[in-house]
Amino acid sequence: MRRSSHVLALVLALVLLAAASAQAQGLTKIAENVYSYVGVKDDSPKHSYAANAGIVIGADGVLDIDTLTSAKEGKRLLQDIRAITKKPIKYVVTTHAHFDHALGSSVFTDLGATLVGHELDRAYLAKNGERMLKKSQAFGLTPQDMAGTKIVLPSLTFTERMTIRLGGETIELIHLTPSHTGGSTLVYLPRQKVLFAGDVLFTDFHPFMGEGDIPGWVKTLDFIQGLDAAAIIPGHGPLSTKKDVAEMRDYILLFDAKATELAATATTNDAKTAASLAAEMKKLLPARTLGVGMIQYNLMIKYLPAKN
Ligand SMILES: [Zn+2]
Repeated sequence: MRRSSHVLALVLALVLLAAASAQAQGLTKIAENVYSYVGVKDDSPKHSYAANAGIVIGADGVLDIDTLTSAKEGKRLLQDIRAITKKPIKYVVTTHAHFDHALGSSVFTDLGATLVGHELDRAYLAKNGERMLKKSQAFGLTPQDMAGTKIVLPSLTFTERMTIRLGGETIELIHLTPSHTGGSTLVYLPRQKVLFAGDVLFTDFHPFMGEGDIPGWVKTLDFIQGLDAAAIIPGHGPLSTKKDVAEMRDYILLFDAKATELAATATTNDAKTAASLAAEMKKLLPARTLGVGMIQYNLMIKYLPAKN
């Protein structure tokens, strides 16, 4: 009897511990008035492939950065924001238009937020948005996961730089050249020395490179090295530093060189060929714990189609 009550107490303690750690998965304080998801481990499609998102809180409102993969996920983010501040959400900036960063936007525009994005990624979303929604099942998302998701396009766009002033806080949007996508944007907070890098930086994840411009990407990573940034939030992965930025640079250069070399020897571009080349690539690439499937995917959509 006594023993079973000990077991019960232990089980209860474990349940409470699990609940506490689940709760701790909200937004983490990065700096004064800056919160973000970082180091999300659940990289399942329904959890936005572990994409990060964050907020800056000004005196009279909030600026949100990225909106996750669906209306459902956008609502999860909104709930996590509401756990920190009740101030109105004035702006939503998307670092780029890939669906794990941009398809939750309608949750915020429905509340009156202004959606801000790069001109090129706005055009990408206008062209591909509805198709992305239709194709979402191919990426492991169910119709229930995507229920209520609408494509909304940025109403405010820029091409090189934009500065948003938000009740005492300054937010700089920076675009040098196409990199991860045509319009990938860095969101820099000069006062806090915090950078939201979007998918220009993947830390501990194999990156999606399928639509990447490698020289432009390297140039953008080099620019980050020169930026006064104490904390860097990657598109996917834990809170990062310039060491991670240097590793990302090495990764994409190595990947691009080896994938180009291996693809040149391939005579077919089917999934079997891609899988065997991916196995070769995996031996050469630095070990990263998440997103291993990206190696094959990148080969198939960026390197092997050139054989046709
Ligand atoms: Zn992306």
